[in-house]
Amino acid sequence: MIEKIKKLERQSSSLEPNADDRLHWQRKVEQYAFKFIDDLPLKKTYIQTEDGGKELINYPISDHPIPIEKALHILEKNVDNIGLNPASGGHLGYIPGGGVFPTALGDYLAAVTNRYAGIYFGGPGAVRIENMLIRWMCSIMGYPETASGNLASGGSIGNLIAIVTARDFKKIEPQDISNSVIYLTSQVHHCVQKAIRIAGLHRAQTTYIPVDENFKMDVNALREQIKSDVADGKKPFLLIGSAGTTDVGAVDPLNDLADVAEEFNLWFHVDGAYGGFFMLTEQGKARMKGIERSDSLVIDPHKGLFLSYGLGVVLIKNVQAQKDAHQYQANYMQDALNDTAELSPADLSPELTKHFRGLRLWLPLQLFGLAPFKSALDEKLMLTQYFYHEVQKLGFEVGPFPELSVMIYRYVPTKGDANDFNKKLIQHVQHDGRVFLSSTTIDEKYWLRIAILAFRTHLEIVDLCLQVLKEGIEKLQEPN
Ligand SMILES: *Cc1c(COP(=O)(O)O)cnc(C)c1O
Repeated sequence: MIEKIKKLERQSSSLEPNADDRLHWQRKVEQYAFKFIDDLPLKKTYIQTEDGGKELINYPISDHPIPIEKALHILEKNVDNIGLNPASGGHLGYIPGGGVFPTALGDYLAAVTNRYAGIYFGGPGAVRIENMLIRWMCSIMGYPETASGNLASGGSIGNLIAIVTARDFKKIEPQDISNSVIYLTSQVHHCVQKAIRIAGLHRAQTTYIPVDENFKMDVNALREQIKSDVADGKKPFLLIGSAGTTDVGAVDPLNDLADVAEEFNLWFHVDGAYGGFFMLTEQGKARMKGIERSDSLVIDPHKGLFLSYGLGVVLIKNVQAQKDAHQYQANYMQDALNDTAELSPADLSPELTKHFRGLRLWLPLQLFGLAPFKSALDEKLMLTQYFYHEVQKLGFEVGPFPELSVMIYRYVPTKGDANDFNKKLIQHVQHDGRVFLSSTTIDEKYWLRIAILAFRTHLEIVDLCLQVLKEGIEKLQEPN
């Protein structure tokens, strides 16, 4: 038996490479990463390919190791050089991410040290960092320090945690669901509907309140609807507002919504996954007045703080409600119980074994300080206003004046179908690839969007985007 164990030990020992081998791998990865960053200005933002990285099937997982050079080559060719490049400053579609470099270092350290960030007992320092970050975000958003929250993988999970908490706090039992009412607008992000479904609330009465000409919830319509629902014996329990919609970056009248929520005793949830961090700017603060009166709030550092993908945050004022909806105990966890110095993420979310994702936020904030983040956010707001004016000079029709850093616009040609023209225009932009834009349809009108939130997007790229659009219009209008 000892013989056999020793033999297996020898065979598995390659899982702990020696210092030279570690250094070799690390150097190669470092070179690859630095080249990737340095080459960004030379590369297209969007690369259409026929095969979509299909060659990857030639490299199945097997018993045999491959050298790092080969692994990186496979990635370069089949992953990093095709499709959309979210690290590029030319990413102006959907809601851009970014990827400030220390995020990667934070992930690296978290992975090497593998600190456990699920329960305070096991990783007191890691959990403390995450809780400090949550309290810091509470202070930015005007929440009390006694609020709780969770560092989740993204805004979708953050919204789910909030909605599940609201459901349980408002005691929506299975037999009550069909009579319970949730209020939102057609402009909420689709992950909210998804979360409602996963929370088992899809048979509740999800009621869409009309929006005004700026795509904000009509508060009077909301109040009338609630009154009539109450008169009909229904149970309104949840109001969902947006602090920056995906289509146009609209901020609902949050202060008015908070009044209504108070009046009718509703849980008031705000989805600020895109817009929330504009609270770091004066303009954003003015637009989002009332956000601090919500019961729960989602904000995405992997959008508004320019981190690489993988961090969305939910903040919830009622700690006990969040715990009641998520805390479970088990015999095999008995050593970890009864530690009350800090809240434990595992008691506040669906996760147990949890990546120490706080480090990917903590390290960039420490290394850069907050000031450049604030400037970058102000810069994005101004670039969007600049685009709003410049794109009209090219003859585009525009949607509402941008409250944040997303806006819609469309070109109406003198002849032919406008929807068709704009569809072709977006195809032109995506085929060109120097910048990436996406589109949306609102009330059957096809609109182009611009979303400026990548930290690498500066004036030069916005000008390039205008140039690409100009060329597109000219090309589409050429007589052929
Ligand atoms: C991106 C986004 C979400 C979803 O968040 P993920 O981080 O992608 O899961 C939700 N709401 C809004 C407004 C968003 O922009």
